[in-house]
Amino acid sequence: MSGTPQSLYRDEGVVLRTQKLGEADRIITVLTRRHGKVRAVAKGVRRTKSKFGARLEPFSHVDLQLYTGRNLDIVSQAESIRAYGQTIAGDYSAYTAGTAVLETADRLTAEEKEPSLRLFLLVVGALRSLAEQAHPSGLVLDAFLLRAMSVAGWEPALHGCARCGEEGPHRHFSVPAGGTVCPACRPTGSAMPNPVTVELLEALLSGDWDRAEASQGTNRREGSGLVAALLQWHLERGLRSLPLVDRSDAASPRREASLRL
Ligand SMILES: [Zn+2]
Repeated sequence: MSGTPQSLYRDEGVVLRTQKLGEADRIITVLTRRHGKVRAVAKGVRRTKSKFGARLEPFSHVDLQLYTGRNLDIVSQAESIRAYGQTIAGDYSAYTAGTAVLETADRLTAEEKEPSLRLFLLVVGALRSLAEQAHPSGLVLDAFLLRAMSVAGWEPALHGCARCGEEGPHRHFSVPAGGTVCPACRPTGSAMPNPVTVELLEALLSGDWDRAEASQGTNRREGSGLVAALLQWHLERGLRSLPLVDRSDAASPRREASLRL
């Protein structure tokens, strides 16, 4: 490490996941308030005498002091702000919903150290709701996913037409188009969800919990299916586009040149 200038910084964050490193260390992935997603080494945390091992588990909201490293930063201090893990792990549906929140936050932050305060606040809000059992877990998860998509620039159309913007409500729903679509725009293979289900998604996106909690199980299930399909479509498309760009650069420079014309 000699010759490498190190700077110290402090931030709060939620631990998204941990990986073992060597005999006693762990790599933690944290979504921080001001520095976006950070991967850092927590040294000696798997030893029983570790000062802060238990504070650096998934779902923990911690105040961290870190040194910048060449590849990974190094955790030098960790103080617990709130440990949501124990409460969330005690309830199976909260635990599975919470795990999906952490995984989605990780997937949505492709770039490390790119601040996303809105996503950070959504994650903290969702974990708090799950820990306090403020609302049914499935609804908390779907509200989080809809808002996280919105933060990522993929807010689904739930009233107007996703393609031309024509005022709704519209009966057809197309995942590739990004939500409800008017009769003129609807692609073949569009679904026709129950209009009450689309209203439930609108309520979840806007935070109208009275309306959302009055919903029936059938609409919740159908809504979850639509939300999952939208997220999956965006994530796969997002991930697929990167390897395609890399491959065309390396394998066919002529094609790249022709694209520039
Ligand atoms: Zn249209």
